[in-house]
Amino acid sequence: MLNLILFGPPGSGKGTQAARLVERYGLLHISTGDLFRYEIGNNTPLGLEAKSYMDKGQLVPDSVTIGMLKNKVLANTEVNGFIFDGFPRTIAQSEALDALMTELDQSITALIALDVSEEEIVDRLLERGKTSGRTDDNDEAVIRKRIGVYKGETTPVYDYYAQFDKSIRVDGIGSIDEIFTALCLEIDRHL
Ligand code: ADP
Repeated sequence: MLNLILFGPPGSGKGTQAARLVERYGLLHISTGDLFRYEIGNNTPLGLEAKSYMDKGQLVPDSVTIGMLKNKVLANTEVNGFIFDGFPRTIAQSEALDALMTELDQSITALIALDVSEEEIVDRLLERGKTSGRTDDNDEAVIRKRIGVYKGETTPVYDYYAQFDKSIRVDGIGSIDEIFTALCLEIDRHL
């Protein structure tokens, strides 16, 4: 199995690239942000809880996020592999993911980080906010908060996988096709 973590700050293009990688490699795409938005759309208790954090640009608590992710993975074990997008975002989530992979006799193949500067990200998110309907993309203060959380809590996840020689960086600036090609080159090297 090929189990990838697509990593990078908000607005780095993870969702766009994940959709293409799914087609090429036949993986199941699991985006925790999408899972939360689905719950919010259905007005579930989980959705209501998640929304209170997401609207402020904060992380949803690990216990909630990890539980939801586990359910999704365990309901889909008959796949060629997973592409995790927006997860793990903390060290605790990384450890929980590794434990889950071990439980399934699997492991994370690689973490691929999309490298994009902070100014580019703010521009992209404000632009996305005009059409996405995502309230967290409409407010520059919320965007800055998410970037701050990314720097403080999420960048250590890169180092966590680097200690196992699993972290790779790919330039996240360029056309969607160029970035996709660069990602595929790295992935094929690890197959
Ligand atoms: P982006 O990467 O643009 O911030 P996401 O859709 O990945 O968008 O996430 C949107 C929001 O959902 C985050 O700001 C956070 O509040 C919540 N969220 C998503 N994934 C996680 C996670 N792994 N842990 C905690 N909160 C999460």
